[in-house]
Amino acid sequence: MSDLGSVISVRGLKKSYGSTQAVAGIDLTIARGEIFALLGPNGAGKTTTVEILEGFRARDSGEVSVLNTDPAIKGEAGRIWRNRIGIVLQSTSDAGDLSVKDTVAHFAKYYSNPRDVNEVIQDVGLDEKSSALIRTLSGGQRRRLDVALGIIGSPELLFLDEPTTGFDPEARRAFWALIKSLRDSGTTIVLTTHYLDEAEALADRVAVINQGKIVEVATPALLGGRATSLATVSWLSEKGAQAERTDNPTALIRKLTETYKDEIPELTVKRASLEDIYLEMIGGADGSE
Ligand code: ATP
Repeated sequence: MSDLGSVISVRGLKKSYGSTQAVAGIDLTIARGEIFALLGPNGAGKTTTVEILEGFRARDSGEVSVLNTDPAIKGEAGRIWRNRIGIVLQSTSDAGDLSVKDTVAHFAKYYSNPRDVNEVIQDVGLDEKSSALIRTLSGGQRRRLDVALGIIGSPELLFLDEPTTGFDPEARRAFWALIKSLRDSGTTIVLTTHYLDEAEALADRVAVINQGKIVEVATPALLGGRATSLATVSWLSEKGAQAERTDNPTALIRKLTETYKDEIPELTVKRASLEDIYLEMIGGADGSE
């Protein structure tokens, strides 16, 4: 059933826990080599969806294909299939008395085609902590170790659940660069995040999920009609700060250049941020009932 070239294909996916319908009919197609972000408020159904794709949770109905395999069929979704998938879960790895390097090397043994241990440690920015014991790492460093364990097996498909929680701004930027380089080398990445800037910086496409349903799938630039939303043009006149909302900022700026000739003082043009659009789409819902 999978579409040609797609790594993940989902049709009519449903899952309830008792009377709570966590996933209420989801369709998704994720192409090889794209970074696909799932955005949605707490309880929207993201983790349930991802766990079904990972083969950790059974679905009630619908069709699912991940790397041309149905994750629910144990005989098909076995070790060979799992070997092609990397997973970074929301919770961090257990603290232990092993060093970073020993831990990564230990996990590498589970895979048929592992990456170089030192290279992976370097890629996640833990080279200076390579011989440190895990229990001595900071929260953000522990999270980087989780990412190292997710990519050590050279996965074709990588699931990242809230990967940068606890990262400092510099580490987040470095992590984004790492994720983009993985994508550029052909890895398909499914990212769950609450950080709108992260989705905007990384994702080729974003799916907004609310109350178990997909509200929209689009590029971050086009989501919710963002590209054609009203722009706010602001500038400084002799009378003080001016701001005007318009659907044609170019025309307004052209008019302003007639008045100001050389330079329009403190000119800015601002469209709705991804966060503005996202909050509008989910209607302020926090998913709680
Ligand atoms: P978050 O952003 O908070 O991680 P989410 O979008 O990942 O949320 P899910 O964890 O998929 O959401 O939860 C969807 C709904 O299913 C919620 O109402 C949640 O309470 C419920 N749910 C999730 N797991 C279980 C479970 N094991 N048993 C019962 N209900 C569950």
